[in-house]
Amino acid sequence: MTELRDQLITTARAMQPAGLNRGTAGNVSVRCNTGFYITPTGMPYDTLVADDIPLMALDGSHQGRRKPSSEWRFHRDLYAARPEFGAVLHAHSPFAVALACLRRDIPPFHYMIAHFGGDTIRCADYAIFGSQELSTAAMAALEGRRGCLLANHGQLVAGRDLGEALALAVELEELCEQYWRACQLGRPVLLDAAEMAAVREKFTGYGQQ
Ligand SMILES: [Zn+2]
Repeated sequence: MTELRDQLITTARAMQPAGLNRGTAGNVSVRCNTGFYITPTGMPYDTLVADDIPLMALDGSHQGRRKPSSEWRFHRDLYAARPEFGAVLHAHSPFAVALACLRRDIPPFHYMIAHFGGDTIRCADYAIFGSQELSTAAMAALEGRRGCLLANHGQLVAGRDLGEALALAVELEELCEQYWRACQLGRPVLLDAAEMAAVREKFTGYGQQ
């Protein structure tokens, strides 16, 4: 399974140049046969090797020489409850953090909001980092969705594989920046429920091509 761990390290290292992280904040995981691999706690990504990547089971136990990220609970809970997800990524990207500090859902100001599964990107209720309460709040905010904000904290996305999770995180950060910019100029005109439903239907069609 070395290959999956190497892919995980490559994705973790891509987060900083993609504008998602500075330093060691954030974490990423990938599902495997017996559970999931997750970035270790407190280690710079540029020094990681495959043996630094802990393997976690869905019961919360882990194997390996390093401890898993302190935020492993929402990774575990997503893999347990959402079989469609093969990778989970969490980041403290600047525009997502800024909006998460307002504790507001991002409204349908742009049609790409629908790419995350609904008419808004929800902001999960606040709970302290690493807690089961935070994971429970995140699971609620991600119901029917594949991305959310975490109040006073950051963003969380999940995709079918590492490439999709990274792309979604970049897209969510981009939407947060665009919303912030639009709000500097006035109050953005929002798309209505019918317009957003039409976008979701069109996205479904793309997926089948
Ligand atoms: Zn965090």
